[in-house]
Amino acid sequence: MKNPVLYMIIPCYNEQEVLPQTSGMFLNELHDLVAKGKISDDSRVMFVNDGSKDRTWEIITELSRKDPHFIGISQSRNRGHQNAVLAGLMEAKDLCDITISIDCDGQDDIHAMEEMVDAYLDGCEIVYGVRSKRDTDTFFKRFTAEGFYKVLNALGAEVVFNHADYRLMSSRALQEFAKFKEVNLYLRGMVPLVGFKSTCVTYERHERLAGESHYPLKKMLALAFDGITSLSVKPIRMITGAGIFFFILSLLGILWSVITALSGNSVPGWASTACIVFLMGGLQALFMGVIGEYIGKIYLEVKGRPRYIVSERTWEQDK
Ligand code: UDP
Ligand code: MG
Repeated sequence: MKNPVLYMIIPCYNEQEVLPQTSGMFLNELHDLVAKGKISDDSRVMFVNDGSKDRTWEIITELSRKDPHFIGISQSRNRGHQNAVLAGLMEAKDLCDITISIDCDGQDDIHAMEEMVDAYLDGCEIVYGVRSKRDTDTFFKRFTAEGFYKVLNALGAEVVFNHADYRLMSSRALQEFAKFKEVNLYLRGMVPLVGFKSTCVTYERHERLAGESHYPLKKMLALAFDGITSLSVKPIRMITGAGIFFFILSLLGILWSVITALSGNSVPGWASTACIVFLMGGLQALFMGVIGEYIGKIYLEVKGRPRYIVSERTWEQDK
């Protein structure tokens, strides 16, 4: 079998401080893997410029002129990390056998790539990079991030604990992933939906080598919100649940006001008014839930996700 062609997909947004340092590290790792006979020399380090406002794109073009192992694409404007990664993956999927997406700031340990490639050579189509510890993150970031993974799992979305976007995907997995047409991207939650044989590789997360984070709290919250709303319709279910609860409560309320009125303990007119208020409140909550259920269905339909993905066929077994 020929050695697989690896494309490292590296999103960059205003990274002129860090790119000159890390680009060399990526290239070294690539050469290292080629020297060990694990990947082909046709492999590439592919930068995705996410509409940077500094010299990032100039640096990328210079690198690609100096060494053919460096290539780059530039997005027409800043679209955010998730879209940048997707752009790189989709551009690469027909050009290579495997992709590894990784941040450009040196935080993710690049030596984990070898283990990822080994797992691929062992037959895995997707390999998730999982942080072994979060020492370098602030307590706040660690607490919110780990809490968030738990909430997502409780809501029924399958996310790999402590996995960000450092992962290997084979071109085969990417061909299937390309069929997920949704525009609200939460890659780490969508990729597990593709299935196939997969595994995790743990690595230590370092400090950023230079420059600063582009994920302030606001963007983190937006990503978290996207994660929940694009992976789960459980919040809508909860409205239905609340609707049924309030409807039952309103029936009890009606019963209570009728009994109170019949026992003569109320002023005239109170019971009828109270009944109407209870009934309207309960019915409205219930109807909203029912409408919500349909909106949830519409939501899933418009995403147009693939309805099945075949992993094996007996007549293709001896490839
Ligand atoms: N990034 C991007 N577009 C953005 C924000 C970030 O492509 O709008 C890239 C950034 O260049 C880096 C990666 O996404 O390679 C992760 O961003 P960052 O290191 O700032 O986030 P953190 O590691 O602090 O969560
Ligand atoms: Mg970072």
